[in-house]
Amino acid sequence: MTAVSRVAIAGGGVAGMAAAILLAEGGVHVDVFEQKPDPGALGSGITLQGNALRVFGRLGIWPAVQEESYSFDVLGIRAPGPEAPVLAQIPDQRTGGDEYPATAGMYRPDLARILTERAREVGANIHLAATVTSFAQDDAGVDVTRSDGRTDRYDLLIGADGLHSGIRSMLGIDVAPHRTGMGIWRAFVPRPESVTHTDLYYGGPAFIAGYCPTGEDSMYAYLVEAAQDHGDLGETERIDLMRELSQGYGGPWDEIRTSLTASARVNYTWFTAHLVPDAWNRGRVVIIGDAAHSCPPTIAQGAAQAAEDALVLAELLLARHAVDAALWEEFHARRLPRAKAVVEASVQVGQWMLDHDRDADVPGLMYRVGSLVSEPA
Ligand SMILES: Cc1cc2nc3c(=O)[nH]c(=O)nc-3n(C[C@H](O)[C@H](O)[C@H](O)COP(=O)(O)OP(=O)(O)OC[C@H]3O[C@@H](n4cnc5c(N)ncnc54)[C@H](O)[C@@H]3O)c2cc1C
Repeated sequence: MTAVSRVAIAGGGVAGMAAAILLAEGGVHVDVFEQKPDPGALGSGITLQGNALRVFGRLGIWPAVQEESYSFDVLGIRAPGPEAPVLAQIPDQRTGGDEYPATAGMYRPDLARILTERAREVGANIHLAATVTSFAQDDAGVDVTRSDGRTDRYDLLIGADGLHSGIRSMLGIDVAPHRTGMGIWRAFVPRPESVTHTDLYYGGPAFIAGYCPTGEDSMYAYLVEAAQDHGDLGETERIDLMRELSQGYGGPWDEIRTSLTASARVNYTWFTAHLVPDAWNRGRVVIIGDAAHSCPPTIAQGAAQAAEDALVLAELLLARHAVDAALWEEFHARRLPRAKAVVEASVQVGQWMLDHDRDADVPGLMYRVGSLVSEPA
């Protein structure tokens, strides 16, 4: 018998859906409660590293992800300025192994749709517009209450409810995301023909200018700057500001700039980071993904770490016979050091830029993290 036969999951992002797919495939009754009415609503792009793709292989969604994403194995480094000379083309580590490309860019709503469809296909129950509002647990189970007033009993509640996790607060864990001092402009635009992989431009008016192809006809572009308070800007002002900041970058940015219009959905977000440094569970409630740790996307590992949390948790719940101290010990031993290394490295890369540290060994650090996450979780 597996350690659980009924599991509730709060949150239908990468962490929640990955856990749902693996547990439902293993014969567990799974209810996913997602507060959004449509998890595949409008969004931007996401850069998925090989170790995320390897987990997607385990979820049975890699063929669909491959079909709807844009894969590449090279990272370009370019200089700012009108000519935007290419300084280096670095072969990227295939952290998921040779079966998977180093990186795939994807439109987030497409990924959300593929995960949701797969979860339904393997028998998970997906409840949309359903918020987990409270829970009460004892030694034998958890009573989970939702926004429609219903309460049901489960063997385990997984809080995969993201950065501002309510489950984390309800557990009394007072670690919360803190700002790292950087902010990112992002836009979803048509792909210029010349863009076939991510290029990063370091320096110029922003710390980093970059882009990532997400399909034959699409990509997202971004500019990372010192965090500003842009909260009350309207759409036209956001577009104008991103366009202005992008003036320092040539090459494909000349074409990207002309696409910065209302359809590009220009948005601005602060980078944050946090790590719950000890147990991610209290009894029969556990947090995973961004609820437990978050990192600025400087090495694009957030979704990969969320998916790996789900994979390791599901593996243990299916292989063991009880939700006990030994299960949690193994879960934390496999997840905490890895998530910690990723969060610290992601923050460090940004901090070096904020400090204008000319001796920073960014490629060296990225290589070390790449080597770490190349090992299966
Ligand atoms: C600007 C930016 C750029 C990024 N770029 C990348 C990138 O390129 N590559 C990468 O790998 N990562 C990136 N990340 C990080 C990545 O987006 C996250 O790490 C990843 O989405 C975490 O997945 P998750 O499932 O843990 O959380 P989420 O995707 O946030 O999902 C949590 C879900 O829970 C739902 N929810 C919340 N509370 C409740 C509740 N009480 N009941 C029910 N549902 C609830 C929410 O609606 C949400 O759908 C980026 C992050 C930021 C901020």
